[in-house]
Amino acid sequence: MAIPSETQQQQQQEKEASDAAASQKRWTLGDFDIGKPLGRGKFGHVYLAREKRSNHIVALKVLFKSQLQQSQVEHQLRREVEIQSHLRHPNILRLYGYFYDQKRVYLILEYAARGELYKELQRCKFFSERRAATYVASLARALIYCHGKHVIHRDIKPENLLTGAQGELKIADFGWSVHTFNRRRTMCGTLDYLPPEMVENVEHDASVDIWSLGILCYEFLYGVPPFEANRHSDTYKRIVQVDLNFPPKPIVSGSAKDLISQMLVKESPQRLPLHKLLEHPWIVQNADPSGIYRG
Ligand code: AMP
Repeated sequence: MAIPSETQQQQQQEKEASDAAASQKRWTLGDFDIGKPLGRGKFGHVYLAREKRSNHIVALKVLFKSQLQQSQVEHQLRREVEIQSHLRHPNILRLYGYFYDQKRVYLILEYAARGELYKELQRCKFFSERRAATYVASLARALIYCHGKHVIHRDIKPENLLTGAQGELKIADFGWSVHTFNRRRTMCGTLDYLPPEMVENVEHDASVDIWSLGILCYEFLYGVPPFEANRHSDTYKRIVQVDLNFPPKPIVSGSAKDLISQMLVKESPQRLPLHKLLEHPWIVQNADPSGIYRG
């Protein structure tokens, strides 16, 4: 009998986990072996865990109801759980299900073995063009999928991206962290990724995600977001004026700058559509077609 490959095993485990979710299984804490803590968020902790029946490894996010109530974010959490649990894409973190007890809400999440991309970017300072293009292309594909389902992420930034075991990016926190807290230490962290129409509080649509992906591409290549300033009001001004500069160092190709300039356009309908982004020469020449950056 053939031994199933790791991918087949993983697929089988994922199928079992999603079958259980689909059959409205009522999960309890007793269904899991709890392992090491993976990190801490504002409302609780995240632990490595193993579902006992399938042996499937997951990340269990434990949120305290009292804290959710205090911050009045229960509705937001419900909506985000509803959205994320219906999305199936290799670059979107799966939410397999949830359960709760008297004090806590537990989210059963796909485990992203290589953790936060933000830390990796801090460690490297900035990414190579091949790496940045591979990430940007995989995120564009994930966002095309979301937009096809009428889901706008609205909060694309390095802090909301996790990395899977193979180095593949996973979008996490669907519109959630914008309502919770800002993990960034700079003064204007919340503003940096906002498009002009959101800063000016006018109507916005899915093209907000094209803008944020442009900001992300810039930050991948330069290590800082393009409109950073010491004061909120200055970042605000730079965003609405699209005060875009490309510093001489690190050296970045003209083709990458061209792509960024086509995404960071004030008039949202003029931004480069995501399917066109995938055909841009910089993406075609630099992005690994597998979507995985191999170093
Ligand atoms: P959060 O509450 O979402 O801010 O998560 C807190 C920290 O836990 C994150 O910064 C990550 O380091 C870690 N973490 C959260 N979710 C996962 C996951 N699915 N896989 C691995 N680590 C995670």
